[in-house]
Amino acid sequence: MNTSTAAQTPRVQADFRSDTVTQPTAAMRAAMAAAPLGDDVFADDPSVNALQDKIAALLGFEAALFMPTGTQSNLCGILAHCQRGDEYIVGQLAHTYRWEGGGAAVLGSVQPQPLNHQPDGTLALADIEAAIKPDDAHFAKTRLLTLENTWGGKLLPFAYVQAATQLARDKGLSRHLDGARLFNAATAQAAQNGTDPYAEARAITSCFDSVSVCFSKGLGAPIGSALCGSREFIARAHRIRKMAGGGMRQAGMLAAAATHALDHHVLRLAEDHALAARLAEGLRGIAGLEVEAPQTNIVFVDLVGAARAQSAALQEHLKAQGVLITGLYRLRFVTHLDVDAAGVDRAVAAVRSFFAA
Ligand SMILES: *Cc1c(COP(=O)(O)O)cnc(C)c1O
Repeated sequence: MNTSTAAQTPRVQADFRSDTVTQPTAAMRAAMAAAPLGDDVFADDPSVNALQDKIAALLGFEAALFMPTGTQSNLCGILAHCQRGDEYIVGQLAHTYRWEGGGAAVLGSVQPQPLNHQPDGTLALADIEAAIKPDDAHFAKTRLLTLENTWGGKLLPFAYVQAATQLARDKGLSRHLDGARLFNAATAQAAQNGTDPYAEARAITSCFDSVSVCFSKGLGAPIGSALCGSREFIARAHRIRKMAGGGMRQAGMLAAAATHALDHHVLRLAEDHALAARLAEGLRGIAGLEVEAPQTNIVFVDLVGAARAQSAALQEHLKAQGVLITGLYRLRFVTHLDVDAAGVDRAVAAVRSFFAA
């Protein structure tokens, strides 16, 4: 019988492709196995209900809805804010614009108004203001601002988050946060301020009408996200989730993993950030590499000059050394629950040995 558990699964690879690749820990699996279950379409699953209550309270919202994916969570959020012919302002490279199959437009007839990012990931306040359409029959109705934090591993400055969401509010727009990595943002912000990540998460989310947060990224749950907002907003999102095929039944096993993650994996995100810094430090000074100083758990490394021609060979070399990454000329290393200092050092050694050869 295959009784593979996290502890027994050999980790022959250092997998930096994404923080989505984590395996549930033994303790998380135990929590999942022990979860009381019901039929969540009847709102009967105690573990789902407990998670929804917990995340809503944690982030300062009236209600929350458990979602199978972050993509569906953002989709339901945008569609619960916007009607057909409405418009949302969003970053050109934001997940809710570029990486979700155009779902808001395809499924909701909601028009995106993408804006270019500033180097720090923000959308310039002047650009946001200029993109808001007057009430005129020529234009879609600008209804919503969506921000993403962290964005590309960058923490949006909190003063910016406050200013952008205040501008949106003043202009009568709703505000949605794609907080797939909200707790990474909160962890970085807490380190800056000497506070705790739960308090910073709540400070960030207090600027928004709705927030989507992923449990399946750095928090280490196998599946799941939550959408948070007012009771009335969540009731609308609930209807849309059903329409999108996201009404799950005995989902409590997954919700229990998410609850476990909220209880046990938030404070350890600082370790991922420290490992990202260690990785960046280790890669610094190699000719042909430009290493971006990481703010959270994502390290970007650009291949420049002659090194660009070696991209494919580098990928192959890393793979042979058991180091998995993404990106061709802009390499991306993501740290998470299932890579440790030894994995980071292996990655550094693998890159160094390639360029030394
Ligand atoms: C991962 C991610 C999501 C959601 O992705 P799913 O794979 O659908 O869970 C949303 N936004 C951002 C910024 C993400 O990184």
